[in-house]
Amino acid sequence: MALITVGTMAFDAIETPFGKTDQIIGGSATYVAYAASNFVKPVQQISIVGYDFPQEEMDEMKSRGIQLDGVEIVPDKKSFFWSGKYHIDMNTRDTLVTDLNVLADFNPVVPDAFQGADFLMLGNLMPKLQMSVINQLKTKPKLIVMDTMNFWMDTAMDDLKAVLKKVDVLLVNDGEARQLSGELSLVKAARTIMQMGPRFLIIKKGEHGALLFHENHVFFAPALPLEEVFDPTGAGDTFAGGFIGHLAKTEDISFENMKTAIIIGSAMASFCVEKFGPERLKEITKADIDNRLAEFVQLVNFDIDLV
Ligand code: AMP
Repeated sequence: MALITVGTMAFDAIETPFGKTDQIIGGSATYVAYAASNFVKPVQQISIVGYDFPQEEMDEMKSRGIQLDGVEIVPDKKSFFWSGKYHIDMNTRDTLVTDLNVLADFNPVVPDAFQGADFLMLGNLMPKLQMSVINQLKTKPKLIVMDTMNFWMDTAMDDLKAVLKKVDVLLVNDGEARQLSGELSLVKAARTIMQMGPRFLIIKKGEHGALLFHENHVFFAPALPLEEVFDPTGAGDTFAGGFIGHLAKTEDISFENMKTAIIIGSAMASFCVEKFGPERLKEITKADIDNRLAEFVQLVNFDIDLV
């Protein structure tokens, strides 16, 4: 079952209370692809990089079943660059720099070989470009999942609302859900957002887990309490990759299966934050993932005797 992923492949400079990096690999599609490739192959990547994006990283991706035919390489420009600084609580961060570079003239092209994919993950990217990919697909995917961020709500709200009409699942954090809906209560926000298009909504709350909404139903997945959160960058994208990777693997897009998928997304995100960048995602094995899922089962498993 093929999965198309769209988003940025980037360099990031990150500052956390635990350390600082100058220039490491990042990008929404990078994290999504690494996470999803544990569950589904091929992952068909659509993105853009400059002359500076390392060949070794692309080789690493290919070795994991990530197809890069949809990644444009621009020989005379730099890759997208983002820099952020985390606050003490690690749940909030400031964007210090967003250098679009190659992203400024990106026109994603869906390769013929990618047509027919049943799952589409629209990673964080300009809403217009997310829309362009949807419009190029000759057959409608079984499921379209979309990630976005406040940056696009501030700068391209109309385009964002147009894409929302076309997607099945939206992923946002709590602040973004409030901004998008104009509601303070997350339950009211969810209701408003689901009227904008997506039938399912996931609201991520960082170290406080994630909520999955559908019609009048709501399900909660905790985040694993970790002794050390080293770098939360990419946690949301990694969550998305685990979520859609599981759905694509099982070919089941029911609400029941999405409950499992958000636990798997949470487990993948818990690895991501253990090291800078996507480093930890490249180390883990299937056994590591299974063990971590067992920890999640323990975390939320309880019996109550009502007397
Ligand atoms: P996350 O921590 O899951 O929100 O994702 C962080 C990743 O998103 C970083 O690796 C950045 O390179 C990438 N990123 C940051 N800002 C943007 C943006 N405006 N559009 C697309 N990707 C971005």
